[in-house]
Amino acid sequence: MDRIYITTPLYYVNAEPHLGHTYTTVVADTLKRYYQSLGFEAFMLTGTDEHGDKIAQAAHAAGTTPNAYADQISHRFRVTWDNCGIAYDHFIRTTDAYHKNYVQKFLQKIYDQGDIYFGEYGGFYCYGCERFYTEKELIDGKCPDHQKAPDFISEKNYFFRMGKYQERLIQAIQSNPALIRPEHYRTEVLASLREPLEDLCISRPASRLQWGIPLPFDANYVTYVWFDALLNYVSALEHRGRDSMLTLWPKANHLIAKDILKPHAVYWPTMLMAAGLPLYEHLNVHGYWVVDSGKMSKSLGNVIRPLEMKARFGMDAFRYFLLREMPFGQDAKFSEEALVTRINADLANNLGNLVSRVLAMEQKYFGGLVQPLSSTQTAEDRDLQAKFAWAEKAREDYMRDLQFHRALEALWSALDQANRYIVQTAPFTLIKDPAKESRVGEVLHHLLESLRMLSRLLAPFLPDTSKELLVLLGISDEGAVRDSSLNRSLEAPWGRFFEHGHKVKGPKVLFPRIEIPAEA
Ligand SMILES: [Zn+2]
Repeated sequence: MDRIYITTPLYYVNAEPHLGHTYTTVVADTLKRYYQSLGFEAFMLTGTDEHGDKIAQAAHAAGTTPNAYADQISHRFRVTWDNCGIAYDHFIRTTDAYHKNYVQKFLQKIYDQGDIYFGEYGGFYCYGCERFYTEKELIDGKCPDHQKAPDFISEKNYFFRMGKYQERLIQAIQSNPALIRPEHYRTEVLASLREPLEDLCISRPASRLQWGIPLPFDANYVTYVWFDALLNYVSALEHRGRDSMLTLWPKANHLIAKDILKPHAVYWPTMLMAAGLPLYEHLNVHGYWVVDSGKMSKSLGNVIRPLEMKARFGMDAFRYFLLREMPFGQDAKFSEEALVTRINADLANNLGNLVSRVLAMEQKYFGGLVQPLSSTQTAEDRDLQAKFAWAEKAREDYMRDLQFHRALEALWSALDQANRYIVQTAPFTLIKDPAKESRVGEVLHHLLESLRMLSRLLAPFLPDTSKELLVLLGISDEGAVRDSSLNRSLEAPWGRFFEHGHKVKGPKVLFPRIEIPAEA
Protein backbone atom coordinates (compact mmCIF):
# COMPACT_ATOMS: atom_id res chain seq x y z
CA MET A 1 0.00 0.00 0.00
CA ASP A 2 1.20 3.50 -0.77
CA ARG A 3 1.70 5.65 2.28
CA ILE A 4 2.38 9.23 3.25
CA TYR A 5 3.17 10.75 6.62
CA ILE A 6 2.42 14.47 6.79
CA THR A 7 3.56 16.74 9.60
CA THR A 8 3.12 20.36 10.58
CA PRO A 9 5.75 21.91 12.83
CA LEU A 10 4.92 21.76 16.50
CA TYR A 11 3.47 25.17 17.20
CA TYR A 12 5.08 27.02 20.04
CA VAL A 13 2.54 27.79 22.74
CA ASN A 14 3.65 31.37 23.28
CA ALA A 15 1.04 32.57 20.79
CA GLU A 16 -2.47 31.62 19.77
CA PRO A 17 -3.18 30.14 16.34
CA HIS A 18 -2.85 32.74 13.60
CA LEU A 19 -2.66 32.87 9.81
CA GLY A 20 0.84 31.35 9.55
CA HIS A 21 -0.11 28.31 11.64
CA THR A 22 -3.38 27.98 9.78
CA TYR A 23 -1.80 27.99 6.34
CA THR A 24 0.66 25.19 7.17
CA THR A 25 -2.09 23.18 8.82
CA VAL A 26 -4.56 23.66 5.95
CA VAL A 27 -1.87 22.58 3.48
CA ALA A 28 -1.19 19.45 5.56
CA ASP A 29 -4.89 18.68 5.74
CA THR A 30 -5.32 19.20 1.99
CA LEU A 31 -2.42 16.87 1.23
CA LYS A 32 -3.77 14.25 3.57
CA ARG A 33 -7.22 14.33 1.96
CA TYR A 34 -5.69 14.33 -1.50
CA TYR A 35 -3.50 11.28 -0.93
CA GLN A 36 -6.31 9.50 0.87
CA SER A 37 -8.52 10.01 -2.16
CA LEU A 38 -5.81 8.34 -4.26
CA GLY A 39 -5.99 5.30 -1.98
CA PHE A 40 -2.93 6.03 0.18
CA GLU A 41 -2.72 5.35 3.86
CA ALA A 42 -2.20 8.95 4.98
CA PHE A 43 -1.28 9.95 8.51
CA MET A 44 -1.20 13.55 9.68
CA LEU A 45 0.57 14.78 12.79
CA THR A 46 0.33 18.17 14.44
CA GLY A 47 0.80 19.40 17.99
CA THR A 48 2.44 21.88 20.30
CA ASP A 49 5.99 22.65 21.43
CA GLU A 50 5.78 23.55 25.09
CA HIS A 51 9.19 23.83 26.74
CA GLY A 52 11.65 26.71 26.95
CA ASP A 53 12.38 30.14 28.41
CA LYS A 54 9.60 31.96 26.68
CA ILE A 55 6.89 29.69 28.07
CA ALA A 56 8.34 29.86 31.56
CA GLN A 57 8.41 33.65 31.31
CA ALA A 58 4.91 33.94 29.83
CA ALA A 59 3.51 31.64 32.51
CA HIS A 60 5.18 33.70 35.21
CA ALA A 61 3.77 36.91 33.73
CA ALA A 62 0.30 35.34 33.64
CA GLY A 63 0.67 34.32 37.28
CA THR A 64 0.47 30.61 36.56
CA THR A 65 2.72 27.56 36.21
CA PRO A 66 4.36 26.61 32.88
CA ASN A 67 2.35 23.41 32.95
CA ALA A 68 -1.01 25.11 33.35
CA TYR A 69 -0.06 27.76 30.82
CA ALA A 70 0.97 25.16 28.23
CA ASP A 71 -2.23 23.16 28.88
CA GLN A 72 -4.32 26.19 28.17
CA ILE A 73 -2.69 27.29 24.90
CA SER A 74 -2.19 23.76 23.62
CA HIS A 75 -5.90 23.17 24.17
CA ARG A 76 -6.67 26.27 22.16
CA PHE A 77 -4.66 24.98 19.20
CA ARG A 78 -6.43 21.67 19.34
CA VAL A 79 -9.88 23.23 19.57
CA THR A 80 -9.04 25.58 16.71
CA TRP A 81 -8.02 22.74 14.39
CA ASP A 82 -11.09 20.73 15.42
CA ASN A 83 -13.36 23.68 14.65
CA CYS A 84 -11.61 24.23 11.34
CA GLY A 85 -12.34 20.62 10.39
CA ILE A 86 -8.65 19.68 10.18
CA ALA A 87 -8.36 15.90 9.80
CA TYR A 88 -5.20 15.35 11.89
CA ASP A 89 -4.67 11.82 13.17
CA HIS A 90 -2.59 12.59 16.21
CA PHE A 91 -1.95 15.68 18.30
CA ILE A 92 1.37 15.54 20.13
CA ARG A 93 2.52 17.70 23.01
CA THR A 94 6.20 17.84 23.93
CA THR A 95 5.08 17.53 27.55
CA ASP A 96 3.56 14.10 26.81
CA ALA A 97 5.28 11.40 28.87
CA TYR A 98 6.05 9.16 25.88
CA HIS A 99 7.72 12.05 24.09
CA LYS A 100 9.89 12.93 27.08
CA ASN A 101 10.94 9.27 27.38
CA TYR A 102 11.80 9.11 23.71
CA VAL A 103 13.89 12.30 23.87
CA GLN A 104 15.86 10.93 26.81
CA LYS A 105 16.45 7.59 25.10
CA PHE A 106 17.59 9.37 21.95
CA LEU A 107 19.97 11.64 23.87
CA GLN A 108 21.42 8.72 25.82
CA LYS A 109 22.10 6.77 22.64
CA ILE A 110 23.90 9.67 20.96
CA TYR A 111 25.81 10.40 24.17
CA ASP A 112 26.89 6.77 24.58
CA GLN A 113 28.29 6.64 21.07
CA GLY A 114 30.36 9.76 21.74
CA ASP A 115 28.44 12.27 19.60
CA ILE A 116 27.68 14.53 22.56
CA TYR A 117 30.41 16.28 24.59
CA PHE A 118 30.70 18.87 27.36
CA GLY A 119 32.23 22.21 26.41
CA GLU A 120 32.29 25.94 26.80
CA TYR A 121 29.88 28.03 24.86
CA GLY A 122 29.85 31.75 24.44
CA GLY A 123 27.80 33.73 22.01
CA PHE A 124 25.18 36.28 21.21
CA TYR A 125 21.95 35.02 22.69
CA CYS A 126 18.51 36.40 21.88
CA TYR A 127 16.10 35.57 24.68
CA GLY A 128 13.16 36.18 22.36
CA CYS A 129 14.35 33.55 19.87
CA GLU A 130 15.87 31.31 22.54
CA ARG A 131 18.94 30.84 20.41
CA PHE A 132 22.47 31.98 19.90
CA TYR A 133 23.23 34.03 16.82
CA THR A 134 26.45 34.12 14.83
CA GLU A 135 27.68 37.64 14.15
CA LYS A 136 26.88 37.19 10.48
CA GLU A 137 23.25 36.42 11.19
CA LEU A 138 22.72 39.63 13.13
CA ILE A 139 21.56 42.70 11.24
CA ASP A 140 23.26 45.88 12.49
CA GLY A 141 24.18 43.89 15.58
CA LYS A 142 20.52 43.11 16.26
CA CYS A 143 18.35 39.99 16.14
CA PRO A 144 16.56 40.18 12.78
CA ASP A 145 13.29 39.00 14.34
CA HIS A 146 13.27 41.08 17.49
CA GLN A 147 15.22 44.16 16.37
CA LYS A 148 17.06 43.96 19.67
CA ALA A 149 20.76 43.55 20.40
CA PRO A 150 21.30 40.07 21.85
CA ASP A 151 23.20 39.51 25.11
CA PHE A 152 26.65 37.93 25.07
CA ILE A 153 26.60 34.98 27.41
CA SER A 154 29.10 32.27 28.17
CA GLU A 155 28.45 28.99 29.94
CA LYS A 156 29.31 25.30 30.11
CA ASN A 157 27.03 23.19 27.98
CA TYR A 158 26.61 19.98 26.05
CA PHE A 159 27.23 19.84 22.31
CA PHE A 160 26.14 17.55 19.52
CA ARG A 161 28.94 16.76 17.04
CA MET A 162 26.94 18.12 14.13
CA GLY A 163 30.02 19.16 12.18
CA LYS A 164 31.01 15.51 11.87
CA TYR A 165 28.02 14.89 9.63
CA GLN A 166 28.51 17.85 7.29
CA GLU A 167 29.86 15.88 4.32
CA ARG A 168 27.21 13.20 4.61
CA LEU A 169 24.51 15.85 4.77
CA ILE A 170 25.80 17.66 1.69
CA GLN A 171 25.89 14.35 -0.14
CA ALA A 172 22.36 13.46 0.90
CA ILE A 173 21.02 16.79 -0.31
CA GLN A 174 22.98 16.67 -3.56
CA SER A 175 22.02 13.13 -4.42
CA ASN A 176 18.32 13.74 -3.74
CA PRO A 177 17.12 16.87 -5.55
CA ALA A 178 13.64 16.70 -4.00
CA LEU A 179 14.76 16.20 -0.40
CA ILE A 180 14.30 19.92 0.26
CA ARG A 181 11.81 21.73 -1.94
CA PRO A 182 11.04 24.04 -3.65
CA GLU A 183 14.48 24.24 -5.23
CA HIS A 184 15.51 27.71 -4.00
CA TYR A 185 15.48 26.53 -0.37
CA ARG A 186 17.66 23.56 -1.29
CA THR A 187 20.09 25.94 -2.99
CA GLU A 188 20.07 28.14 0.09
CA VAL A 189 20.86 25.21 2.38
CA LEU A 190 23.66 23.92 0.15
CA ALA A 191 25.15 27.42 0.00
CA SER A 192 25.13 27.68 3.81
CA LEU A 193 26.90 24.31 3.99
CA ARG A 194 29.90 25.73 2.11
CA GLU A 195 30.89 27.20 5.49
CA PRO A 196 32.15 24.78 8.12
CA LEU A 197 29.24 23.38 10.08
CA GLU A 198 29.63 24.06 13.79
CA ASP A 199 28.62 21.68 16.52
CA LEU A 200 25.21 22.28 18.03
CA CYS A 201 24.73 23.35 21.61
CA ILE A 202 21.91 21.14 22.88
CA SER A 203 21.53 22.01 26.56
CA ARG A 204 20.75 24.79 28.99
CA PRO A 205 21.80 24.79 32.62
CA ALA A 206 18.87 23.89 34.86
CA SER A 207 19.94 26.80 37.05
CA ARG A 208 18.79 29.15 34.30
CA LEU A 209 15.98 27.10 32.79
CA GLN A 210 13.99 24.38 34.52
CA TRP A 211 11.12 24.10 32.07
CA GLY A 212 12.60 21.42 29.82
CA ILE A 213 13.45 17.74 29.58
CA PRO A 214 16.40 16.85 31.87
CA LEU A 215 19.45 15.33 30.17
CA PRO A 216 19.49 11.66 31.13
CA PHE A 217 23.27 11.81 31.77
CA ASP A 218 23.40 15.11 33.70
CA ALA A 219 20.51 16.29 35.85
CA ASN A 220 22.02 19.79 36.07
CA TYR A 221 20.98 20.40 32.47
CA VAL A 222 17.81 20.33 30.40
CA THR A 223 17.78 19.77 26.68
CA TYR A 224 17.58 22.77 24.43
CA VAL A 225 14.62 23.37 22.15
CA TRP A 226 15.56 21.50 18.92
CA PHE A 227 16.62 18.21 20.49
CA ASP A 228 13.21 18.27 22.11
CA ALA A 229 10.89 19.69 19.45
CA LEU A 230 12.25 18.02 16.30
CA LEU A 231 12.10 14.57 17.86
CA ASN A 232 8.30 14.73 17.96
CA TYR A 233 8.18 13.58 14.34
CA VAL A 234 9.53 10.18 15.35
CA SER A 235 8.40 9.94 18.97
CA ALA A 236 4.77 10.14 17.81
CA LEU A 237 5.28 7.21 15.43
CA GLU A 238 7.21 5.16 17.99
CA HIS A 239 4.34 5.76 20.38
CA ARG A 240 1.93 4.42 17.77
CA GLY A 241 3.99 1.29 17.41
CA ARG A 242 7.07 -0.10 15.75
CA ASP A 243 5.15 -0.76 12.56
CA SER A 244 4.23 2.91 12.08
CA MET A 245 7.86 3.85 12.45
CA LEU A 246 8.92 1.32 9.83
CA THR A 247 6.21 2.00 7.27
CA LEU A 248 5.41 5.69 7.72
CA TRP A 249 8.69 7.30 8.70
CA PRO A 250 10.44 6.82 5.30
CA LYS A 251 7.40 8.57 3.76
CA ALA A 252 7.65 11.60 6.03
CA ASN A 253 6.68 14.90 4.43
CA HIS A 254 7.43 17.80 6.73
CA LEU A 255 5.69 21.09 6.10
CA ILE A 256 7.35 24.19 7.50
CA ALA A 257 7.59 27.93 7.02
CA LYS A 258 10.97 29.24 5.90
CA ASP A 259 11.89 30.68 9.31
CA ILE A 260 12.67 27.17 10.58
CA LEU A 261 14.50 25.98 7.46
CA LYS A 262 17.91 25.56 9.09
CA PRO A 263 16.80 23.41 12.04
CA HIS A 264 14.82 21.15 9.68
CA ALA A 265 17.31 21.04 6.80
CA VAL A 266 20.53 20.87 8.82
CA TYR A 267 20.06 19.97 12.51
CA TRP A 268 17.32 17.40 11.98
CA PRO A 269 18.92 15.27 9.23
CA THR A 270 22.25 15.17 11.08
CA MET A 271 20.42 14.09 14.24
CA LEU A 272 18.75 11.33 12.25
CA MET A 273 22.10 10.27 10.81
CA ALA A 274 23.61 10.11 14.27
CA ALA A 275 20.71 7.94 15.45
CA GLY A 276 21.01 5.66 12.43
CA LEU A 277 17.54 6.55 11.17
CA PRO A 278 16.61 7.19 7.53
CA LEU A 279 16.01 10.78 6.47
CA TYR A 280 12.56 12.17 5.77
CA GLU A 281 11.25 11.91 2.22
CA HIS A 282 10.64 15.63 1.67
CA LEU A 283 11.09 18.84 3.56
CA ASN A 284 8.44 21.14 2.05
CA VAL A 285 9.07 24.81 2.74
CA HIS A 286 6.62 27.66 2.30
CA GLY A 287 6.99 31.44 2.47
CA TYR A 288 5.40 34.10 4.65
CA TRP A 289 2.04 35.72 4.51
CA VAL A 290 2.51 39.44 4.38
CA VAL A 291 -0.43 41.26 5.87
CA ASP A 292 -0.96 44.72 4.37
CA SER A 293 2.46 46.31 4.52
CA GLY A 294 4.49 44.06 6.79
CA LYS A 295 4.93 40.70 8.46
CA MET A 296 2.02 39.83 10.70
CA SER A 297 2.63 40.77 14.31
CA LYS A 298 0.71 41.32 17.48
CA SER A 299 2.14 44.78 17.97
CA LEU A 300 0.92 45.90 14.55
CA GLY A 301 -2.57 44.63 15.38
CA ASN A 302 -2.85 42.76 12.08
CA VAL A 303 -3.08 39.22 13.41
CA ILE A 304 -5.47 37.03 11.41
CA ARG A 305 -7.34 34.48 13.56
CA PRO A 306 -8.61 31.37 11.79
CA LEU A 307 -11.85 31.00 13.71
CA GLU A 308 -12.74 34.61 13.14
CA MET A 309 -12.16 34.11 9.39
CA LYS A 310 -14.29 30.96 9.46
CA ALA A 311 -17.13 32.76 11.22
CA ARG A 312 -17.08 35.65 8.78
CA PHE A 313 -16.40 33.95 5.45
CA GLY A 314 -16.80 30.19 5.97
CA MET A 315 -13.94 27.71 6.32
CA ASP A 316 -13.98 26.51 2.71
CA ALA A 317 -13.82 30.05 1.37
CA PHE A 318 -10.89 30.83 3.69
CA ARG A 319 -9.14 27.59 2.69
CA TYR A 320 -9.70 28.36 -0.97
CA PHE A 321 -8.11 31.76 -0.62
CA LEU A 322 -5.04 30.42 1.23
CA LEU A 323 -4.43 27.64 -1.26
CA ARG A 324 -5.22 29.68 -4.36
CA GLU A 325 -3.40 32.87 -3.45
CA MET A 326 0.00 31.63 -2.25
CA PRO A 327 2.30 29.84 -4.70
CA PHE A 328 3.81 27.27 -2.33
CA GLY A 329 7.33 28.35 -1.43
CA GLN A 330 6.89 32.04 -2.12
CA ASP A 331 5.59 34.90 0.00
CA ALA A 332 2.05 36.09 -0.59
CA LYS A 333 -0.06 39.04 0.47
CA PHE A 334 -3.07 38.70 2.67
CA SER A 335 -5.79 41.30 2.56
CA GLU A 336 -9.50 41.09 3.18
CA GLU A 337 -10.07 42.90 -0.07
CA ALA A 338 -8.26 40.17 -2.01
CA LEU A 339 -10.10 37.51 -0.02
CA VAL A 340 -13.51 39.01 -0.76
CA THR A 341 -12.63 39.49 -4.43
CA ARG A 342 -11.71 35.82 -4.77
CA ILE A 343 -14.80 34.64 -2.90
CA ASN A 344 -17.07 36.71 -5.13
CA ALA A 345 -15.37 35.94 -8.44
CA ASP A 346 -14.33 32.31 -8.08
CA LEU A 347 -16.73 30.87 -5.54
CA ALA A 348 -19.96 32.91 -5.69
CA ASN A 349 -19.86 33.57 -9.44
CA ASN A 350 -18.03 30.76 -11.20
CA LEU A 351 -18.70 27.78 -8.97
CA GLY A 352 -21.87 28.93 -7.21
CA ASN A 353 -23.62 30.07 -10.39
CA LEU A 354 -22.79 26.88 -12.24
CA VAL A 355 -24.26 24.75 -9.46
CA SER A 356 -27.43 26.79 -9.06
CA ARG A 357 -28.08 27.20 -12.80
CA VAL A 358 -27.71 23.50 -13.54
CA LEU A 359 -29.83 22.37 -10.61
CA ALA A 360 -32.48 25.04 -11.31
CA MET A 361 -32.87 23.92 -14.94
CA GLU A 362 -32.93 20.23 -14.00
CA GLN A 363 -35.62 20.99 -11.45
CA LYS A 364 -37.68 23.21 -13.71
CA TYR A 365 -37.56 21.08 -16.86
CA PHE A 366 -37.48 17.54 -15.44
CA GLY A 367 -38.52 17.79 -11.81
CA GLY A 368 -34.96 16.86 -10.80
CA LEU A 369 -34.98 13.52 -12.66
CA VAL A 370 -31.72 12.89 -14.50
CA GLN A 371 -32.41 12.19 -18.19
CA PRO A 372 -30.67 9.46 -20.22
CA LEU A 373 -27.78 10.07 -22.60
CA SER A 374 -28.04 8.95 -26.21
CA SER A 375 -25.16 7.22 -27.96
CA THR A 376 -24.22 10.25 -30.04
CA GLN A 377 -22.24 13.15 -28.70
CA THR A 378 -21.69 16.63 -30.06
CA ALA A 379 -18.30 18.32 -30.26
CA GLU A 380 -19.28 20.45 -27.25
CA ASP A 381 -20.11 17.35 -25.21
CA ARG A 382 -16.74 15.83 -26.05
CA ASP A 383 -14.82 19.03 -25.35
CA LEU A 384 -16.42 19.31 -21.93
CA GLN A 385 -15.43 15.76 -20.96
CA ALA A 386 -11.94 16.21 -22.37
CA LYS A 387 -11.48 19.38 -20.35
CA PHE A 388 -12.36 17.62 -17.09
CA ALA A 389 -10.07 14.71 -17.94
CA TRP A 390 -7.29 17.23 -18.58
CA ALA A 391 -8.03 19.06 -15.31
CA GLU A 392 -7.82 15.85 -13.33
CA LYS A 393 -4.45 15.01 -14.83
CA ALA A 394 -3.20 18.58 -14.34
CA ARG A 395 -4.33 18.47 -10.71
CA GLU A 396 -2.23 15.36 -10.20
CA ASP A 397 0.86 16.88 -11.82
CA TYR A 398 0.63 20.09 -9.82
CA MET A 399 -0.12 18.36 -6.54
CA ARG A 400 3.05 16.31 -6.90
CA ASP A 401 4.97 19.59 -6.70
CA LEU A 402 2.68 21.15 -4.07
CA GLN A 403 1.47 23.72 -6.57
CA PHE A 404 -1.95 24.05 -4.96
CA HIS A 405 -2.71 27.32 -6.71
CA ARG A 406 -2.06 25.76 -10.13
CA ALA A 407 -4.15 22.69 -9.30
CA LEU A 408 -7.06 24.94 -8.40
CA GLU A 409 -6.49 27.05 -11.49
CA ALA A 410 -6.80 23.90 -13.60
CA LEU A 411 -10.05 22.90 -11.90
CA TRP A 412 -11.43 26.39 -12.40
CA SER A 413 -10.59 26.25 -16.05
CA ALA A 414 -12.76 23.11 -16.33
CA LEU A 415 -15.43 24.93 -14.38
CA ASP A 416 -15.26 27.83 -16.84
CA GLN A 417 -15.67 25.37 -19.67
CA ALA A 418 -18.86 24.05 -18.05
CA ASN A 419 -20.21 27.58 -17.82
CA ARG A 420 -19.29 28.13 -21.47
CA TYR A 421 -21.01 24.88 -22.39
CA ILE A 422 -24.29 26.27 -21.04
CA VAL A 423 -23.92 29.29 -23.31
CA GLN A 424 -22.94 27.13 -26.33
CA THR A 425 -25.75 24.61 -25.95
CA ALA A 426 -28.36 27.12 -24.67
CA PRO A 427 -30.71 24.61 -23.00
CA PHE A 428 -32.93 27.49 -21.86
CA THR A 429 -33.68 28.25 -25.55
CA LEU A 430 -33.87 24.63 -26.74
CA ILE A 431 -36.49 23.79 -24.15
CA LYS A 432 -38.98 26.01 -25.95
CA ASP A 433 -39.00 23.47 -28.80
CA PRO A 434 -40.70 20.22 -27.61
CA ALA A 435 -38.74 18.24 -30.23
CA LYS A 436 -35.50 19.23 -28.46
CA GLU A 437 -36.49 18.12 -24.99
CA SER A 438 -34.37 14.96 -25.02
CA ARG A 439 -31.32 17.00 -26.08
CA VAL A 440 -31.91 19.37 -23.17
CA GLY A 441 -31.98 16.32 -20.89
CA GLU A 442 -28.62 15.23 -22.31
CA VAL A 443 -27.06 18.65 -21.93
CA LEU A 444 -28.10 18.75 -18.29
CA HIS A 445 -26.85 15.21 -17.78
CA HIS A 446 -23.41 16.30 -19.00
CA LEU A 447 -23.54 19.31 -16.70
CA LEU A 448 -24.47 17.13 -13.73
CA GLU A 449 -21.48 14.95 -14.60
CA SER A 450 -19.35 18.10 -14.43
CA LEU A 451 -20.67 18.76 -10.93
CA ARG A 452 -20.01 15.17 -9.90
CA MET A 453 -16.43 15.47 -11.18
CA LEU A 454 -16.04 18.75 -9.30
CA SER A 455 -17.30 17.28 -6.05
CA ARG A 456 -14.61 14.63 -6.29
CA LEU A 457 -11.74 16.77 -7.57
CA LEU A 458 -12.42 19.66 -5.18
CA ALA A 459 -12.81 17.47 -2.09
CA PRO A 460 -9.23 17.83 -0.75
CA PHE A 461 -9.37 21.63 -1.06
CA LEU A 462 -13.01 22.39 -0.21
CA PRO A 463 -14.19 19.40 1.84
CA ASP A 464 -17.46 20.93 3.07
CA THR A 465 -18.45 22.20 -0.37
CA SER A 466 -17.70 18.82 -1.87
CA LYS A 467 -19.96 17.13 0.66
CA GLU A 468 -22.70 19.65 0.02
CA LEU A 469 -22.45 19.02 -3.72
CA LEU A 470 -22.88 15.31 -3.13
CA VAL A 471 -26.02 16.00 -1.12
CA LEU A 472 -27.39 18.31 -3.85
CA LEU A 473 -26.64 15.70 -6.49
CA GLY A 474 -28.61 13.15 -4.47
CA ILE A 475 -25.49 11.01 -4.06
CA SER A 476 -25.18 11.09 -0.30
CA ASP A 477 -27.32 12.21 2.59
CA GLU A 478 -24.71 13.66 4.84
CA GLY A 479 -21.69 13.48 2.57
CA ALA A 480 -20.04 10.21 3.52
CA VAL A 481 -17.11 11.09 1.24
CA ARG A 482 -14.70 9.00 3.25
CA ASP A 483 -16.71 5.89 2.46
CA SER A 484 -14.49 4.03 0.05
CA SER A 485 -17.37 2.46 -1.88
CA LEU A 486 -18.80 5.92 -2.47
CA ASN A 487 -15.39 7.08 -3.62
CA ARG A 488 -15.23 4.22 -6.06
CA SER A 489 -18.69 4.88 -7.44
CA LEU A 490 -17.74 8.54 -7.80
CA GLU A 491 -14.93 7.42 -10.05
CA ALA A 492 -17.40 5.84 -12.49
CA PRO A 493 -16.69 6.98 -16.06
CA TRP A 494 -18.48 10.01 -17.47
CA GLY A 495 -22.07 9.21 -18.40
CA ARG A 496 -22.13 5.95 -16.42
CA PHE A 497 -23.00 7.24 -13.01
CA PHE A 498 -26.56 8.54 -12.91
CA GLU A 499 -28.97 5.67 -13.21
CA HIS A 500 -32.51 5.76 -14.47
CA GLY A 501 -34.75 7.49 -11.95
CA HIS A 502 -31.90 9.28 -10.13
CA LYS A 503 -33.16 12.50 -8.67
CA VAL A 504 -31.12 15.58 -7.83
CA LYS A 505 -32.10 18.36 -5.46
CA GLY A 506 -33.14 21.90 -6.30
CA PRO A 507 -30.71 24.84 -6.46
CA LYS A 508 -28.97 26.24 -3.43
CA VAL A 509 -26.67 29.20 -2.89
CA LEU A 510 -23.32 27.70 -1.89
CA PHE A 511 -21.39 30.95 -1.52
CA PRO A 512 -23.37 34.14 -1.00
CA ARG A 513 -21.82 37.19 -2.62
CA ILE A 514 -20.10 39.40 -0.09
CA GLU A 515 -20.99 43.04 -0.40
CA ILE A 516 -18.02 45.31 0.03
CA PRO A 517 -19.02 48.26 2.19
CA ALA A 518 -18.44 51.54 0.39
CA GLU A 519 -15.50 53.49 1.79
CA ALA A 520 -16.55 56.44 3.88
ZN1 LIG B 1 15.32 37.25 18.47
